[in-house]
Amino acid sequence: MSTAVIKRPKTNRSTLSFVPELVYFEPSALDYPKGQRIFDWVKKEGIPYRMTTSHNRITNLPGDTELEQYKIAKRTLVVGIRKTLKFDTSKPSAEYAIPIATGCMAHCHYCYLQTTLGAKPYIRVYVNMDDILNAAQGYIEERKPEITRFEAACTSDPVGLEPITGSLRELIDYMGTQENGRLRFVTKFHHVDSLLDANHNGHTRIRFSVNAKYVIKNFEPATSSFEQRIEAAAKVARAGYPMGFIIAPIIWHDGWEEGYGELIASLAAQLPSDVTKDLTFELIQHRFTKTAKAVIEKRYPRTKLEMDIEKRKYKWGRWGQGKYVYPDEQANALRMYLSERIFEHFPEAKIEYFT
Ligand code: SF4
Repeated sequence: MSTAVIKRPKTNRSTLSFVPELVYFEPSALDYPKGQRIFDWVKKEGIPYRMTTSHNRITNLPGDTELEQYKIAKRTLVVGIRKTLKFDTSKPSAEYAIPIATGCMAHCHYCYLQTTLGAKPYIRVYVNMDDILNAAQGYIEERKPEITRFEAACTSDPVGLEPITGSLRELIDYMGTQENGRLRFVTKFHHVDSLLDANHNGHTRIRFSVNAKYVIKNFEPATSSFEQRIEAAAKVARAGYPMGFIIAPIIWHDGWEEGYGELIASLAAQLPSDVTKDLTFELIQHRFTKTAKAVIEKRYPRTKLEMDIEKRKYKWGRWGQGKYVYPDEQANALRMYLSERIFEHFPEAKIEYFT
């Protein structure tokens, strides 16, 4: 493995766009224009970089303790080739997950990537877009004449990485040409400017993940602020994209009615009314597994996230271990209250699901 350390990177705090502290490249990634472009940018920014044989085997991350290594991993970018082109399913929001990135630089305490990515919390981006698009084309053909929806945010927050990769833009342009293909993704970031003039053809739905102030303040470090997300939402809506909001995780906390009421009222107040006709909402209550609880308590030891299994209802999982959700009475109260507020402010919106 070769190492080329140049100098400490500058971070772009004014726009909060992600600048990694360390980058790994698979050598073959440099044979692709995207890989070469990222490589040139890394050199220009003076970010330390190393070469690696596989994006799945980064074993020599700096850091003395596990926690330190975790924090560094969240600031480490790995540029590689996506070899597995069999897409995972992505119910309930889409048929398939389309893999353009894995991992995220934000630190949401509740994020399920903490368990699903296990010992590999670093951020992987894939440069072989043609292979990924060809695989998507195969899935679209298979399901014709049905529409096939692809979710691009199952394993990452791709908007946060877009200034580096430009991959979403490529997906959006591609899906714009597909009669039977649709794209969707969700984000807590605001870096949408490069997407505004894409040829989306109404085939991409961009959703913003929003929450009560208490949740954003306590559990979502290193994401864009609520105001930045709303400003970005207004921009994409004006650019003609179908748009939506995911309120997740919905967390029962002191003053939750006020918190969620305020959230929905402020969405209505800040979004231009002419762009909110075809609005969708997806509502997901907070849930956790026993494994997730153990990982979260280790990585965010001072978290205020309530994960008391005595206060929760156990829900059997289809595969492997079950999850702890709110008891029916609390879940129903959350669902009813949020649905009422949504229809009060957005009578034409569609609530796709509450889960
Ligand atoms: S922004 Fe999304 S993907 Fe990133 S840490 Fe937060 S919940 Fe996870």
